[in-house]
Amino acid sequence: MNEYLKQYIKLQKPFRVTQGNPDSVCALYAFKDELEQSEDKQAKEILVDVYDLLGFKKSAYDLLCQIGDRSDKKILKRLGTLKDYSEKWGNHYALPKPKTPEEKWKEKERWAQLGLPAFQYHPDPLDTGAFEESQEGVVCDCCGKTTHIFYTAPFFSVENIAYLCPACIASGEAARKYHGSFQDNYSLDDGVDNPEKLDELIHRTPGCSGWQQEYWRAHCNDYCAFLGYVGARELRAMGVLEEVLDDPMWDEEQKDMIQESVNGGHLQCYLFQCLHCGKHLVWMDFD
Ligand SMILES: [Zn+2]
Ligand SMILES: [Zn+2]
Repeated sequence: MNEYLKQYIKLQKPFRVTQGNPDSVCALYAFKDELEQSEDKQAKEILVDVYDLLGFKKSAYDLLCQIGDRSDKKILKRLGTLKDYSEKWGNHYALPKPKTPEEKWKEKERWAQLGLPAFQYHPDPLDTGAFEESQEGVVCDCCGKTTHIFYTAPFFSVENIAYLCPACIASGEAARKYHGSFQDNYSLDDGVDNPEKLDELIHRTPGCSGWQQEYWRAHCNDYCAFLGYVGARELRAMGVLEEVLDDPMWDEEQKDMIQESVNGGHLQCYLFQCLHCGKHLVWMDFD
């Protein structure tokens, strides 16, 4: 047995036993980085397995296409399976690497360097896909200026708006001009008594896209920050699954559903974090 395979067996065991806790996912990511540096054929073979395990289906497929022996029936079969996944989903549902505090700080820096406004209730809107980047730039319907970052999540207004820039959302101008909102004000947790906060959330914060009705969680008398789309795998990898289950919002049956949820699947979870005590909470819905 070669060294790479030995190492892979050693690392995938805790990953399977814990169903992917943060330590096991970080260790696999470190191994992936190491293998990617290697030109060794055996290292590349194991890298296919690591990609596959972490959900990088497109990378696994592309690499196996390069190195796989097509006269081997097992390899051909695997190529077929990976091809299906890869064409449907690419690397989109790869397990996220748990971020270190330093990495989180760097992301905030990048957002600030782009001259973009901060949204306390939606701190990483590029990461969640609420904004997308355009190389050529698009014209914001609201201010008429060219923007390289444009809004893609729901905006509820009578008029059909193609593009909004971050500044027009943050200033409240887009909501004012089109009498619109980014979040339904009946589809939120109770318990926030400051109307200013409601105004900021529904008129000056990028929203999120749900299967059905978008819903925003609140905690400690304030709305929470939306962190992104997750399933049980992602919650385990972030080490917050137990925390989100400890929530009076959910009964036992719903807790079981959260533990079965798959990011991008029929049962989708939306992850939030309290701005005051740091507690993680989820919302879930169905397609
Ligand atoms: Zn604008
Ligand atoms: Zn709290």
